[in-house]
Amino acid sequence: MSLFHFDPVEYTADAQSLRNTVRSLIDEKVREMPAAQRAQSWTGFDAEFSEYLGAAGFIGMHWPAHHGGRDCPAIERYIVIEELLAAGAPVGAHWIADRQSGTHLINYASPSAKSECLPGIASGKLFFCIGMSEPNSGSDLASISTRAVRVEGGWRIRGAKLWTTHVTRAHMMIALVRTSDGGESRHQGLSQFLIDLSLEGVTINGITDQTGEQHFGEVFLDDVFVTDDCLIGTEGEGWQQVNHELALERSGPERYLSSYRLIPAYLDALCGVTDDTSSCALGEIVAELWTLRQMSMSVAGQISNGADPALEAAMVKDLGATFEQALPHRIQACLDNDVDNAGDEQLMPVLDYLLNAAPSFSLRGGTREILRGIIARGLGLR
Ligand SMILES: Cc1cc2nc3c(=O)[nH]c(=O)nc-3n(C[C@H](O)[C@H](O)[C@H](O)COP(=O)(O)OP(=O)(O)OC[C@H]3O[C@@H](n4cnc5c(N)ncnc54)[C@H](O)[C@@H]3O)c2cc1C
Repeated sequence: MSLFHFDPVEYTADAQSLRNTVRSLIDEKVREMPAAQRAQSWTGFDAEFSEYLGAAGFIGMHWPAHHGGRDCPAIERYIVIEELLAAGAPVGAHWIADRQSGTHLINYASPSAKSECLPGIASGKLFFCIGMSEPNSGSDLASISTRAVRVEGGWRIRGAKLWTTHVTRAHMMIALVRTSDGGESRHQGLSQFLIDLSLEGVTINGITDQTGEQHFGEVFLDDVFVTDDCLIGTEGEGWQQVNHELALERSGPERYLSSYRLIPAYLDALCGVTDDTSSCALGEIVAELWTLRQMSMSVAGQISNGADPALEAAMVKDLGATFEQALPHRIQACLDNDVDNAGDEQLMPVLDYLLNAAPSFSLRGGTREILRGIIARGLGLR
């Protein structure tokens, strides 16, 4: 019996017509955007674009209708986000909420938290960030020291979160914190809370990364009071919940398409004239891309069928990050032999941006070593 499940996913009959609809909807907005802006893709923050997409019904489309979704099959959502990423649409503002926070709230949050957040997420106006990592806890997430203490009517939270994507512009954070010491296992005693970032006691600072963008930041929580209905799920079961959330975070097409804009940019620069080096490189790149796509789509299908493909998601993220991290260097190597295109004005800004952004691809969402540890455990090797 196979340890890993990557069963093929069937397209629905009208998948291609959905693809065409989304393509034209996106094209209208992104056609005139500078190539370097499109290269940012799912980290590019554009609140107006998110609202446009929300109005078109493409955020939360996989949620049940009674939560403001459209009950769409996972494969249809996959097609929509794949098209958005391939076009380099600036989806960063709503990305986290659509990918994981909304679904996580549907699975675990109180009725009031759901009704407070889900309509705003679906309309592309309410943005979320992920409060897992801390100044002294990244890979070893169970070592977090941010604490919530029970008080009358709710909880007081004290601590700090770090590397929080879009924290300077998000409205809400789902934070993992410690609510008790956990006894025999550090994985016990953790809980998740919904924190409104406008609350008293919240201080946020942006951090500039090596691309020159302030895409993430740090957040200090100084005795922030949250009401009881901000507890997500069950007190003390945050570890199991966060792992479920991470499966949503690790397997989507953004885990292999972050450098995708380089492929059309390079093809445009080549104008149909290739040599052996560029032909071979592009052939290999597309073959790898296609394989990753099949694997990632399979994980999306499993999640929508209620399975927990955490192992397969870790494999997609590790292989995907390796692919998208190497891609700028592979195109750069082609350009070393291709003096005609080495200064192309559309291609070079995309390449510059991605060469600088790529080191982070194997850190965000869980590092390469951590993912390989999960895979090894799945194989029974640890
Ligand atoms: C662009 C970007 C966006 C991010 N966005 C968010 C976000 O929105 N929310 C959030 O909570 N976090 C976010 N992070 C943080 C990210 O999840 C952490 O950086 C990551 O989990 C690693 O943690 P660390 O930085 O503390 O490094 P460390 O955990 O200190 O790791 C340092 C190195 O040691 C290795 N290592 C650590 N432990 C082991 C081990 N047991 N075995 C083998 N090797 C090990 C790691 O693989 C890594 O190479 C983001 C990071 C980046 C780069």
